[in-house]
Amino acid sequence: LSKKKGRNRYEFFSYSIEEKATEKRKLIEEIKLGLKESQFELYYQPIFSVDGKSITKAEALIRWNHPQKGLIGPNEFIPMAEKNGLISDIGRWVKSQAIQDCTLFNKISKRLIQVSVNTSPLEIDRSGEWVEQWIQASEQFNLPGHSVLIEVTENTLMGTDSEIKRQLKRLSEFQIDVAIDDFGVGYSSLAYLQRLDIDILKIDRSFIKDIEKNDNSIALVRAIITMAHNLNVEVVAEGVEKQEQYMLLKQMQCDYIQGYYFSKPVSKKVFVSEFIEE
Ligand code: C2E
Ligand code: MG
Ligand code: MG
Ligand code: MG
Repeated sequence: LSKKKGRNRYEFFSYSIEEKATEKRKLIEEIKLGLKESQFELYYQPIFSVDGKSITKAEALIRWNHPQKGLIGPNEFIPMAEKNGLISDIGRWVKSQAIQDCTLFNKISKRLIQVSVNTSPLEIDRSGEWVEQWIQASEQFNLPGHSVLIEVTENTLMGTDSEIKRQLKRLSEFQIDVAIDDFGVGYSSLAYLQRLDIDILKIDRSFIKDIEKNDNSIALVRAIITMAHNLNVEVVAEGVEKQEQYMLLKQMQCDYIQGYYFSKPVSKKVFVSEFIEE
């Protein structure tokens, strides 16, 4: 009996794995087609200086206008694309679109708008090609200095070698800034990051989420901000949803605020008309 049961179970699993593999293959083909048919779009979420008056940065966040499923967020396809090597194709598209948009924003805007671009660890290669592509593109489009901020996660830089350090330094020579995204969820220390010439630190949303109710979060965020400032690094708080959170962060002298309290990510068109044009 147990043998029979076992075999049934095996058949059940093999069927479901096969089915999942088919789903995955389908998604891969759909992403490739989507790139070809311009189904992807960058939304922008404004990042305000802590006075709440001026927008200084905007984070580019990818969306997929799927012909059947509608608007899909990055959590639904970026992890999959990372596993299947498609992330470099997506990354290339994001880079090129973000640079065009950055050019447009800074043509219209009176003050500098820094466009912040997410990068998957898998896009960054040891050869330095990825860095050189950014430098070439920014020169080709004649982007103003500091108009691009590249977001990497802590883990991208963990155990980093002198090669990555050299690459980050090269970005800095060309006035392309670098931010650590989702800071606090990884294991890196601030002092360690400082040696890599980081410009901005983005405190992960999970620490902001209930900061107004949680003394530990307050202590932690305060310590991060103080240490960052001592190291000459500016701080963005992510996921600010409430006025109390904003007030606390202001009091802690956090430099920039990003979150639904000020604005959700919006289409490029809405971003331009609501946040740049006067
Ligand atoms: P992230 O880089 O940490 O981006 C911030 C995420 O938090 C965005 O989700 C944004 O919509 C959301 N968010 C902003 N403010 C608030 C708030 O006040 N409350 C809440 N609950 N959420 C807020 P989104 O757009 O779904 O992006 C998710 C993640 O996907 C991003 O996290 C980033 O890791 C990745 N991603 C997005 N665009 C790209 C891209 O172009 N390339 C790569 N490699 N990854 C991307
Ligand atoms: Mg980000
Ligand atoms: Mg720098
Ligand atoms: Mg983040």
